[in-house]
Amino acid sequence: MRADILVSSLMTTDITSTTADANLADVIKTMIDSRYSCVVVVEDDLPIGIITERDIVRLMGLFISDSDSDTPERPLRVADVMSGPVETISEETTLFDALVISSTQKIRHLPVVSASGKLLGLVTQSDLAKTLFKVYEQQQELIEHSVTKRTKELQQANEELRSLSMVDGLTGLGNRRAMEVDLEHSHSQALRYNRSYSVALFDVDYFKLYNDFYGHKAGDNALRMISDHLSKKIRTCDRLYRYGGEEILLILPETNLSGAIILVERILASFAELNIPHEKSSYGFVTLSCGLASHVEKSAFENWEGLVDQADQGLYASKKNGRNRASVILREGEADDSAPSMHGINQ
Ligand code: GH3
Ligand code: MG
Ligand code: MG
Repeated sequence: MRADILVSSLMTTDITSTTADANLADVIKTMIDSRYSCVVVVEDDLPIGIITERDIVRLMGLFISDSDSDTPERPLRVADVMSGPVETISEETTLFDALVISSTQKIRHLPVVSASGKLLGLVTQSDLAKTLFKVYEQQQELIEHSVTKRTKELQQANEELRSLSMVDGLTGLGNRRAMEVDLEHSHSQALRYNRSYSVALFDVDYFKLYNDFYGHKAGDNALRMISDHLSKKIRTCDRLYRYGGEEILLILPETNLSGAIILVERILASFAELNIPHEKSSYGFVTLSCGLASHVEKSAFENWEGLVDQADQGLYASKKNGRNRASVILREGEADDSAPSMHGINQ
């Protein structure tokens, strides 16, 4: 079994879909009778939402807390409880990409769609986990049997396992490959559903001097502490990746520029409390510089690379203007909705 397995080979095609105006009670009955954990809501074969067990539990919660009120005048419809729009993946999505999308965005059910957006099947988190487990088992077997005689196969098995890893070994953050999958998916969903999201690119200040003064091992340790600290300061929906070297990228879904600035300013300020000593920095402790960029409807970036490049320009400005700050370079025609407390420059 290869690690570049496509979701089309593991998706369930025998799925029941429903429409937004269907009677909710009928749909719940189907879910119970057929033991479905979700039903995809479609309109002209295009997925527009999803009803999961979680939505039903939420609805029950509402009924329980509101049990004194009269019963509703009309039967509930699917549209009243469904979650939408729904995140979808294409049939060409690989196992790795689907794992990144489902784990970073905490999605348990991923409808698979054709190039024209029509519903083809469904992949659940447990389908992905089972397939991953099978890959691990098979590679493990190969490794055990090839230790002495088949070095080439052993190497291949190891490479395959490495290619399925989403995590950076040193920092425990998402690795560069997972970051690219996440950005690609986030950007395509933002374009399709007019959603906004922001990215923040952090870079440790004077880190070469830190290594030179304290040693490379201490540098590694500082990177770990920085990553742990950042992980504690973000919201559960935000995602951190090691962009490379001492650079870290933060993805902030459903966040516009002012929201992103407030969060990043808070993060940068918290490094004074973390207080990792840095004798060779004028600040006396380890600081970060940051560049921010937002994808909102009116400043639609064609691709995520453009957005990250914009954040990189902000980072460059932060470095030039004294470090330990965040900056935004606004593009022509981009509205300035940045917070007044903002360090750095807006051009
Ligand atoms: P600036 O404030 O302009 O960012 O200066 P800087 O010294 O941080 O930047 P520069 O690009 O000159 O150096 C980056 C340093 O980060 C050099 C490199 O050895 C170090 N670095 C990158 N990755 C790692 C790592 O995994 N471990 C350690 N210990 N150091 C690393
Ligand atoms: Mg750097
Ligand atoms: Mg640096």
